[in-house]
Formats: sequence, C-alpha cells, structure tokens
Amino acid sequence: MKKEDCIFCRIAAGDIPSETVYEDDDYRAILDLGPASRGHTLILPKEHFRDVTELSAHYAAGILPVAAKIGEAMKKALSCDGFNLVQNNGEAAGQTVMHFHMHVIPRYNSETAPIAAWEPHKADPEELKQIREQLAAAIE
Ligand code: AMP
Ligand code: ZN
Repeated sequence: MKKEDCIFCRIAAGDIPSETVYEDDDYRAILDLGPASRGHTLILPKEHFRDVTELSAHYAAGILPVAAKIGEAMKKALSCDGFNLVQNNGEAAGQTVMHFHMHVIPRYNSETAPIAAWEPHKADPEELKQIREQLAAAIE
C-alpha cells in the first residue's frame, strides 16, 4: 500500500525523481540527499511501513540481502573500507521520515568519526537483572 502524502512512497514508486542505484520489485535504493559519507544510500521498500515494528515478514526477510549487495558494490565501486547499516525507529531514535528505510553508509579508513556515538554507562548487575525480567516477559 502506498501513502499519498509520504515522500518515500512517492520516491519508491518513481513518481519523484531520485538518484536510484538499485531497484527490484520490492525495493528502490537511492542516494541520500544529506549524506553522512560519499555514497550514503537509503533502501526504501515500495510498500509503506512506518518503522520496523510494522514491516511485513516478506520485506524484513528481503532487505538484508539487498543491503549486503549494495555494501559489496560500494566496496568495489567506491573503494570504501566498510559500511554501516543504520535503521532509525521513532523520533527519539532520530527517524525523520516516517517510512521505514535502511541506511547503507560507506566508511573510509581516512574518516574515523563514528556514525553513532554513545557514552557507555557502568551497568548495575541488579538493574540488569530487573531489566532482563521486564523485557524478556514483554517479548512476544
Ligand atoms: P532518518 O533520520 O533515518 O529518518 O533518515 C532520513 C534520511 O533521508 C536522511 O538521511 C535525509 O538526508 C534523507 N532524505 C530526506 N529526504 C530525502 C529525499 N527526498 N531524497 C533523498 N534523501 C532524503
Ligand atoms: Zn511511505
């Protein structure tokens, strides 16, 4: 299903032009207009899902092989040294376009800044136990 007011639905359908690097029946992969590095690509499912919690099993199963294919091509064509797969869910996580997408971000040895940086805290074993109990019980 497409959402008329969703920019990524319109790009995925080809109604809005994009720099498409890969396309198949289910996905279109485009260059990001605000790249974190040279070659930063977004994989867009052609169906609308808000985030990973809505993604169908079919699209979930298909997206990692596409990401791997694009990452391999980035190594060959762009001579990157590695790549990050990044996928944001919800505004608090940095999601700005509410149509599920996966970032494929080429990494170059010459650029060492981390894509996602967090400050590790010291874990309290009692708290870990409590969190584990709450979380494990909620996983369906
Ligand atoms: P996220 O923060 O995970 O929602 O990522 C959204 C990404 O989409 C950002 O990296 C933007 O630079 C990128 N973006 C937004 N609009 C467009 C567009 N029309 N074409 C290509 N990339 C876009
Ligand atoms: Zn959409």
